[in-house]
Amino acid sequence: MKPLHFEAIYDISVRLGGAPLYPGDPIYCRQMVSKIESGDRFNLSKVTFSAHAGTHLDSPAHFLSRGKAIDEYPPQRFILPAHVLTAKDSRCIKPSDLKGVAANPGDALLFKTDNSRRGLLKKTSFSEDYVFLAPETAERCVELGISLAGIDYMSVDRFGDPSYPAHKMLLENDILILEGINLEDISPGSYLLLCLPLKLEGEAAPVRAVLMR
Ligand SMILES: [Zn+2]
Repeated sequence: MKPLHFEAIYDISVRLGGAPLYPGDPIYCRQMVSKIESGDRFNLSKVTFSAHAGTHLDSPAHFLSRGKAIDEYPPQRFILPAHVLTAKDSRCIKPSDLKGVAANPGDALLFKTDNSRRGLLKKTSFSEDYVFLAPETAERCVELGISLAGIDYMSVDRFGDPSYPAHKMLLENDILILEGINLEDISPGSYLLLCLPLKLEGEAAPVRAVLMR
């Protein structure tokens, strides 16, 4: 078989446990159960974390009681043509940021915002003033028929908004949400996105996300 060739492969994931913790989420913890250093035959660790830790995907089960869980999706939902768009506003992603996007139904849209420029994902503490997805922009995503929306911080909704309008709008329309992607080194444009989650029976799962072209 001919080897696949890509000009570049970009890792847009953050290390599990390395991203700021969304307030209230369980903390990431890795404990050694056995250690070669201590005379054990092998290294073995126990890891506990929130299903929303680090770079992760939200499925409809996050906000809908009968919504689909991550393990109910076929792998083709995680391998998609993706378009990286720049958000101009420093407060939220506006519908005007989607102007002229060449997205086909089923594609992914990834929003590069000031969050990447400010390096928010690399900070140890949580930043409440991150750029979020305006509800009207989530609506526009639905109209475009995309199947995944991604953002460069830990939530698509404004911090402290109790109604979670962007999460609900996207998930009710079967649009998966990719959160916690680092787009600092990514230029706007079209790529192939790979974001295969752990096969978890649940409302979210960590992923290793890469962009290729
Ligand atoms: Zn989440």
